[in-house]
Amino acid sequence: MRVVSSMPFRGLTAVALITASIALPAHFLHAQTARPAAESRTFVVRHARVFDGEKFLPATDVSVENGMIMAIGNNPKVAAGTKEIDATGDTLLPGLIDSHTHTWANALQQALIFGVTTELAMFSDPKFDAQVRKREAAGQNLDAADLRSSGTLVTVAKGHGTEYGIPIPVLASAADAQSFVDARIAEGSDYIKIIYDDGSAYGGSIPTLTKDELAAVITGAHNRKKMAVVHIGSQDGARDAIAAGGDGLAHIFEDEPPAPDLVALFKQQHGFVIATLTVNESVSGKASGESLVTDPRLSPYIDEQAAANLRKAFSPRPKSKTNFSHALAAVRALHAAGVPILAGTDAPNPGTAHGVSIHRELELLVHAGLTPTEALRSATSVAARTFGLNDRGRIAPGLRADLLLVKGDPALDITATREIVAVWKTGAEADRSSVRAAVEKEKQETASAKTLPAPRGSESGLISDFEDGTTTTKFGAGWSVSTDAMANGKSTAELKCVAGGAEGSKGALQISGTISDAFAVPWAGALFSPGSAPMVPVNLSSKKAIHFWIRGDGRPYRLMIFTKSGGYNPASQNLTVTAEWKEITIPFSAFDTDGHDINGVLFAAGGSPGAFQFAIDNVRLE
Ligand SMILES: [Zn+2]
Repeated sequence: MRVVSSMPFRGLTAVALITASIALPAHFLHAQTARPAAESRTFVVRHARVFDGEKFLPATDVSVENGMIMAIGNNPKVAAGTKEIDATGDTLLPGLIDSHTHTWANALQQALIFGVTTELAMFSDPKFDAQVRKREAAGQNLDAADLRSSGTLVTVAKGHGTEYGIPIPVLASAADAQSFVDARIAEGSDYIKIIYDDGSAYGGSIPTLTKDELAAVITGAHNRKKMAVVHIGSQDGARDAIAAGGDGLAHIFEDEPPAPDLVALFKQQHGFVIATLTVNESVSGKASGESLVTDPRLSPYIDEQAAANLRKAFSPRPKSKTNFSHALAAVRALHAAGVPILAGTDAPNPGTAHGVSIHRELELLVHAGLTPTEALRSATSVAARTFGLNDRGRIAPGLRADLLLVKGDPALDITATREIVAVWKTGAEADRSSVRAAVEKEKQETASAKTLPAPRGSESGLISDFEDGTTTTKFGAGWSVSTDAMANGKSTAELKCVAGGAEGSKGALQISGTISDAFAVPWAGALFSPGSAPMVPVNLSSKKAIHFWIRGDGRPYRLMIFTKSGGYNPASQNLTVTAEWKEITIPFSAFDTDGHDINGVLFAAGGSPGAFQFAIDNVRLE
């Protein structure tokens, strides 16, 4: 359904999820094994301007011992030999809290590098969340932001949240609300995230909870002393969510200007709003993160995959009512009425990336009318207070030493938060320099990859026409089977040259097998490796598109292109396959690549379990 592709939270693709979990960039793997020594978690920051989470203090000292803030004030008592940091001219802030993310793979490591020390996930994999909790409790998560999460969200069959190819439980009726909520809490949910969005704000129509179901789920959460955070798409949805007793919104709406009665309702019900202005901006068609990629204070730390995502925006549908100025006006009106505004990014949606996007969110909150100090509160003390995180969000004795040191004065210029001197997670300093070095190395490798000659034999563009009855390719390491077995799935595939190719030619490649539901996001198909071995990238930028013929049963098929800079997260295009041969040409640009580092081309079946069969022929680059 097209509408979902223009709704927030679409970054999760099936294969991305798997591959991200098995192929983290090397610098993050390295970072995960490097544990800061305990003694380095004691230090004193001298002469820093301090934003304590509520207000700015004149230059003073802050001492940290074993990861906890001990004292604030001139010349606090510290042991002889304690590490001193001269922060004259700099500002020390509480570590930032991003109150709306979708967190998996290396997101928490990325977040920390940019000063985000806590992420509040608003739909994530409970198994991943449990691993993070375990590491955090064991004091082993020092190189990554801390996490709180909703785990699986509450939605209905075919509602928002079900479109990512990952089977999730769905709510059947209001009568099931309490048991549904209890199952989420048993999985570890810190709060309950509810989808109440019929897609109409984006010009579409999808199923969502009824008002009765919404109220029942909220009651179910409150019965267990859990907060109910509601994803809405429209002002009408926001009104229903808060009237039904929802604690707050996971997004601000942008389909209408804010109405006075809505503001009054928020006041009366003590509702809060996680303003995800950066993704609101992307939903309205502008790549919100583009200015971050070109900011010299941030760019040395932004890897290519994050940069590519920051440059993306949603394509609004013709009937979409989204208008970013409404989102800014709504935040302004609610804030002026005293409604708590929390900073959230909704990373990694198009136009965002973990960590870095909080700096754009702060800037947009200031555009909306908050003062820089108020914007900083929304990413620190207000978020902590709202979510009951009493050990963080402020700089005060006895709290976690989650700290961010920046050059200059963000009270005067909010973008000063981007000029990061240091980040500490419970007193352990984040290793920003190794990330900077890895990003630099990646950029150099890309630059040199773009100058490499195309692989020998690729000049004509032909990969295979299967005319000689073999799967031979004109270049590269050839065709091979690729299935979810690499992720402990049980799907199978077989490649076979068969007679009766496209355009009356002799042969074609038949790909058949079985999709199993043993793995959440199954796949099976044929992978072409253009390099000398599987996953070796080659420069195919002299070509602009991939062309092929395809026929088969009516199941869903996809073409995926893997690139090195894509971090093994393939970009994919759905294929419409019928019993008749069909000619298809897809430009590289549809896969977000210029072709300079392609390391795999995968024709794959997926979707529901069962047998599949399709054939391809005359596969070439143009
Ligand atoms: Zn979201």
